[in-house]
Amino acid sequence: MSSWRDLIGEAARRFATRPHRLFINGAWFDAAEGTTFDTLDPASGTVITSVADAGPVDVDAAVRAARAALESNAWRKMTPIDRGRLLNRLADLIEANAQELAELESLDNGKPLTAALNGDVAGAAKMFRYFAGWPSKLEGATIPVSPSAGRTFLNYTRSEPVGVCGLIVPWNFPLSMAAWKLAPALAAGCGCILKPAEQTPLTALRLAELIDEAGFPAGIVNVLTGRGASAGAALVAHPGVDKIAFTGSTQVGKSIARQCADSLKRVTLELGGKSPNIILPDADPAEVAEAAATAIFYNQGQVCTAGSRLYIHRKHFDRVVADVASKAQSIRIGPGLAAGTQMGPLVSSLQHQRVSDYVDIGRNEGGTTVTGGGRPHDRPEGYFFEPTVFVDTRDSARIVKEEIFGPVLTAMPWDDIDDLVNRANDSPFGLAAGVWTRDVKQAHRIAAQLKAGTVWVNCYNVTDPASPFGGFKESGWGRELGRKGIENYLETKSVWINVD
Ligand code: NAD
Repeated sequence: MSSWRDLIGEAARRFATRPHRLFINGAWFDAAEGTTFDTLDPASGTVITSVADAGPVDVDAAVRAARAALESNAWRKMTPIDRGRLLNRLADLIEANAQELAELESLDNGKPLTAALNGDVAGAAKMFRYFAGWPSKLEGATIPVSPSAGRTFLNYTRSEPVGVCGLIVPWNFPLSMAAWKLAPALAAGCGCILKPAEQTPLTALRLAELIDEAGFPAGIVNVLTGRGASAGAALVAHPGVDKIAFTGSTQVGKSIARQCADSLKRVTLELGGKSPNIILPDADPAEVAEAAATAIFYNQGQVCTAGSRLYIHRKHFDRVVADVASKAQSIRIGPGLAAGTQMGPLVSSLQHQRVSDYVDIGRNEGGTTVTGGGRPHDRPEGYFFEPTVFVDTRDSARIVKEEIFGPVLTAMPWDDIDDLVNRANDSPFGLAAGVWTRDVKQAHRIAAQLKAGTVWVNCYNVTDPASPFGGFKESGWGRELGRKGIENYLETKSVWINVD
């Protein structure tokens, strides 16, 4: 097998083969304690390079830098149009360096290069471009308040940046998740500390270079590579941080919410999911089978909205299961950087172990694998896992209830629509759902009944910077993207003027 060094362009190779430091106040530093950790190529399990391992002292320096930058004239007095101009310049730089960024993402995370280029990198540029339009539109309101004690008032509101934001992102869409958080935070005028996941630090570090090149004032964005339990926890605990925006596991999200409650820090959470994908009897079975396979297998199944519970009307059950299984078998598995790869490795050996364990659990609970269930025979190295389809599961089975975060689908038949909606909603999660039908009335009725932050009808996994995204129930707090998304980075101030 060729090494990643043979599959990558010169710019990405140079970046990926040197050690990396922390980006604080517009400059690069080793961790205060001098510690580093390695980032690995998930296609081979070998070391790519080392990055600085930030600790509490580095977090403190980054928070101070963000606060000073936030209060500096360079940022405070910058016109909204100029703030938008910086965000657009960053989008330009992402587009100009798209191939390099995509290669770094594919190398570090394992995802196919085409997906990194057309999905993650293109999406990140679009995110900065969308939010570039917002700084000049953050209007307040004049409120028709009543006179009081004989005095008349002018009352108006101001939208002000919430302050210093700790942005903690996961490894499944590293660059894209960084953009989902940085773009609205910067558009709102906040100071930022970005902490990428320890498994995938490379594109966040390259993004820091581009942020510097775009001309953002030093300190307004700081990037700290580090582990969750040290750098992440220090950021959440720091009294100088006004808001935490987190995407990751529900377990860590809950603990962050508890800590933020102590200091009443603002917090938004995008957490796990176990999304139902529902096929109605009038849907075209061939079309939906293809879409259902993509809904679960995209990004190796490591997607919070993955359509992991497939509810197929009994009439189409056998046909759709056979078609999804055949699609799964036809997926070309390989290193993300190799030409023609459609599915890369899982991100880490830990994730590989988690997914393998869930397959064992599913089988022990009586489930049957129609296809997949383990490591592909021709991939002895790296963290590869076959696309897997389970049938014969009970609704109470753990693989039906719990988020696996891998390419594992449970396909279940249904007969009665009301019973089906109850089964679909019987989950602690509520992130997303899919509905496949030609019946417009049914589509609207079911969309209204599903307890999920996003419902896709005759499509799946579509997002846009303008449309709010987030979860009901244990899938999170708040919404990202669009107007709702930027509001999380703003405080509203009510100003009263006595005009008598
Ligand atoms: P995680 O929640 O531990 O990590 C996500 C981010 O949070 C990383 O940047 C990590 O360093 C940081 N973090 C971890 N502990 C922290 C703490 N105590 N304080 C502050 N920050 C902390 O996720 P994981 O362990 O990488 O993955 C575990 C499971 O989480 C997966 O199997 C999957 O089910 C789920 N997951 C969900 C998403 C999502 O998009 N919803 C993304 C990644 C993982």
